[in-house]
Amino acid sequence: MKAIYIQGQSLRSEIEKNISEELLEKVYYFARQSYPDECCGLILEKGIRSCKNIQNQLHQSDPVTYPRSAREGFVFSSEDSLFLSRNIASVNPVKAIYHSHPDVGAYFSNEDKKNALFDGKPIYPVDHLIIDIQRDEIICSKLFRFIAEDYQLIAVFPGRKI
Ligand SMILES: [Zn+2]
Repeated sequence: MKAIYIQGQSLRSEIEKNISEELLEKVYYFARQSYPDECCGLILEKGIRSCKNIQNQLHQSDPVTYPRSAREGFVFSSEDSLFLSRNIASVNPVKAIYHSHPDVGAYFSNEDKKNALFDGKPIYPVDHLIIDIQRDEIICSKLFRFIAEDYQLIAVFPGRKI
């Protein structure tokens, strides 16, 4: 997909190949289906895997440990977590983890950072795509990559009316 912003032209071909238009369309579809909850999933070298966000179940069974609902958070199911950890070195590796931010804008939150890092380093060597979705419009999606000890915005893709 043609990015509307890219951090450095040298990244363009790699990023636009990883995030194809067809693939982004599937991710946007899933974000709409999940709204007003967050969706989550994986962008593979070929295709996507839409994952199950179990945040609501965790929140309902233990609201003290899990104060957030799926409206403002995501947790992969154990099957999806297992797939992710086993898939990284496979022939069709995960390139990015995606999730949506309903009505709050696509920024890499402190919670996102906490979930992506262990001891200050990324748990998985993948980018993160965050979809900025509102009730009747996907505003855009933003791709973040761990560079120089922090997650930085490297690309923005156009959204669409719903
Ligand atoms: Zn988030």
